[in-house]
Amino acid sequence: MNKMDMVIRNGMVVSGADVSATDIGISDGKIAQLGGELEGTSEIDATGMLVLPGGVDAHVHLTLPPGMDGAPKWVDDFHSGSAAAAAGGITTLGNMSFLMPGEGPLAALERESDLAAELSIADFFLHPVLTHGSPEILDEIPKLLESGCNTIKFFMSFPTFDDNVEFYLQATRVAGEHDMVTLIHCEDYPLIEEATRALVAQGRDAIQNYPASRPILSELVATQRAIAFAEATGAPVYVVHLSSDRAMAACVEAQSRGVPILVETRPLYLHLTAELFDAPDAGKYVGQPPLRYASDVDALWAAIQQGTLHTVCTDHAPWGLADKLDPSHTIEDVRPGTENLQVMLPLLYSEGVRTGRISLARFVEVTSTNVAKIFGLYPRKGALLPGSDADIVIFDPELRRTISNDMLKSNADYSVFEGWDVTGWPVTTIRRGEVIFDADEVVATPGSGQLLQRGPTNLI
Ligand SMILES: [Zn+2]
Repeated sequence: MNKMDMVIRNGMVVSGADVSATDIGISDGKIAQLGGELEGTSEIDATGMLVLPGGVDAHVHLTLPPGMDGAPKWVDDFHSGSAAAAAGGITTLGNMSFLMPGEGPLAALERESDLAAELSIADFFLHPVLTHGSPEILDEIPKLLESGCNTIKFFMSFPTFDDNVEFYLQATRVAGEHDMVTLIHCEDYPLIEEATRALVAQGRDAIQNYPASRPILSELVATQRAIAFAEATGAPVYVVHLSSDRAMAACVEAQSRGVPILVETRPLYLHLTAELFDAPDAGKYVGQPPLRYASDVDALWAAIQQGTLHTVCTDHAPWGLADKLDPSHTIEDVRPGTENLQVMLPLLYSEGVRTGRISLARFVEVTSTNVAKIFGLYPRKGALLPGSDADIVIFDPELRRTISNDMLKSNADYSVFEGWDVTGWPVTTIRRGEVIFDADEVVATPGSGQLLQRGPTNLI
C-alpha cells in the first residue's frame, strides 16, 4: 500500500455527475488515489461532509498594489482577497488586470503576476483588460496563449468603446482564431448616458434611482452585440455578470443556433432585487449592471439548472462601507462592486441546492468544473480525479451560520448579505494538498499561491 501525505476518509465526494462515498488519497499536492486501501501521514475524517473540488472564481478585482494611482481603491489585495476566498471554499482566482496607458497585454500580465505571486494564497490567473486599442495589441494577442493566458476582456460600457469598436471586433476574432475566449462587460454606454441624463434633468440623481440609470435595455443591446461578435467571427464570447431575463433569453436563442456564447452571473443577481434601492443604505448595493427584479432572479436560477448559464463567479470588487455610503454620491458618481468571495458558495448551496432550484452536480459545475474548463485549467483544476491538483473543500451541508460583518476575512467591513441565515458552509479548504483554511482560520502564508499556466478552452 502506498503511503499518502493525506487521506480524506468517509466523505461524500462530488465529481462530475457522481456523488459517492469515497476516500481520497493525496500525494505531492495531487490526488493520487480514489477509494481502495489508503494510509496517510495525516488523515481527515469527513463523515457527514460533502467533499468538493475547490471553487474556481474567474472574476475578481484585487488591487495591485492597493490604491495604485488611477485604479479604483478596492480594499482587497491578493492576500486579503485570497484569504476570503479560502474561507469561502475557493482555491483559484482569475483577476481582471487593466492595461496601463500605452501598455500591451503581455507587459500587463508580467507586471501584475509578479505582484500577485508575492501575496496570493489562492492559485491565480489574470485576464488582460483591453482599456485601449492599437495594431500592436492585435499583434500580441496570438502570443498570449503561449504565455499561459487564454482570455482577453473589454467593456462595452466604457465611453471609448464605440470609437474603437472595429478594434474590439478584430480582437475578438484574433482571440478566437488562437483558441482564446473573449470576456465582455455587456452594457451599452450611449443608453446608460441617455437614461442618466433624463434622470438628472428630472432632479432624480439620488442613488435610489441607480437601477433606472442602467436599464435592462442597455444590457440587452450590448449582449446582442456581443452575440453578433461571436456569430460574425465564430469566436467564443463569455458574457460576464449577466443580470437580466431578457439578456439571458438572447443568449439562449444564440446558443440554440450554435453561436459560442458562454454566460456568467454573480451572487448579487441571484439573491437580491432592485427594491433594496428604496432604502437609505441603497449605496451598499451598487454594482454594474444594477440589481434587477424577481423575474430576472428566477430566470437566472432556471438557466443555471438548464445548463445555459455556465458559471457563477463573484466579481468581488470590495469597498469599505463608508465609501459605499458616502452621501455625496449620485447616479453619476458611484462606487460599483461588493465583497462576495467568502459567501458565494454557502449562499449558492443554501439558496440553490437546499431549496431544490439547482442540483448538487450543477452547483459544482458552475462554481468549479465549468470555470476550469472554460479557462483552460481542466482537469488540473475543477475535478477530483487522479492527477488533479488536490484542491478540495470539505463542506458541511448542515452547518448553519448567520452572515455577519465581523466574520469576513476581506478588508471590506460589511457584506450585502449581513444577517442572512445560511445552511451549508466550508469547514476545511485544501489547496494543492495543503490545508489553507480550517476551524475558521486561514492558515496559509501569503505567496504560497501559484500563477497558473492555462491551455485552450475546452468547454466549447
Ligand atoms: Zn468585474
